[in-house]
Amino acid sequence: MMKLTLRANAKINLTLDVLYKRADGFHQVEMIMQAIQLADILNLEEKVSGDISITSNMSYLPCDHRNLAYQAAMLIKNTYQVKDGVHIFIEKNIPMSAGLAGGSTDAAGVLIGLNRLWKLGLSLEELEVLGARLGSDVPFCLRGGTQLATGRGELLEPLSPLPPCYVVLAKPRIGVSTAWVYGRYRDSESLHHPDTAGVKAALGQGDLPGVANRLSNVLESVTMSEYPQIGKLKERMIQYGAMASLMSGSGPTVFGLAPDKGTAEYIADKLRSQSDVEIIITKTVTRNGG
Ligand code: ATP
Repeated sequence: MMKLTLRANAKINLTLDVLYKRADGFHQVEMIMQAIQLADILNLEEKVSGDISITSNMSYLPCDHRNLAYQAAMLIKNTYQVKDGVHIFIEKNIPMSAGLAGGSTDAAGVLIGLNRLWKLGLSLEELEVLGARLGSDVPFCLRGGTQLATGRGELLEPLSPLPPCYVVLAKPRIGVSTAWVYGRYRDSESLHHPDTAGVKAALGQGDLPGVANRLSNVLESVTMSEYPQIGKLKERMIQYGAMASLMSGSGPTVFGLAPDKGTAEYIADKLRSQSDVEIIITKTVTRNGG
């Protein structure tokens, strides 16, 4: 029986801009996404019985058709008329409903894994087409690294990698629904939009402070107005030595970029002692998987 283990990496947003609401109901976005080392572990095991099943160490993760990993397996199985089945065990390490693309990356990992397990020989581009049907962040999760994502998030342009740095994640003990945040988003003239071109240029020059100075997310004020602790976490990250701090995606996770391990640990210790948040120290990565 064939088995496979994969790492499904989480992401953070270095920028997130919403351009306008499209006729199809999606928002046209422009965002620079960065893969991080934090990952769920996926174990895939071939099943002759032909069905798809999921288990997880995380008791409140739905393991039926609501799970994006299940939807990914069904989509690839049906599209390529595969007779075999698979059992998927998800070791959940990525906080859920956090703005870290936990569900999307599990779906991406399943597409990559089943392409190998079932010897389908699909290209990355073919997997991206399938992925985009599952969710706007799935194509990014298939590629990883540092990418500019446009359209509804599914159109990717590879960027120069962010110079390696530590990332401290602080997740308040609340979950935020992405749909709720986008639904409340209103553009206004006072809104500060990210300098996406500036971040691209800084990445091209390997200029970490140049990127750090331009971290920006238009959804931050939406989520923050409901959960003021996000603003406090950002302030404390900076106070304790982060180069910059931002809310990731639709939140509520706040991340801080730290130049070295010592600073990352100092920030983490301070935040842990002061607030009831989940703290994770991780790093940026240039490649997903492994
Ligand atoms: P994004 O950053 O892409 O908006 P997120 O990190 O905010 O994602 P997720 O953790 O991906 O949020 O997903 C949140 C919702 O998706 C939860 O309601 C959860 O039940 C559902 N879900 C479905 N499949 C998964 C999965 N494999 N992992 C996590 N959540 C999943």
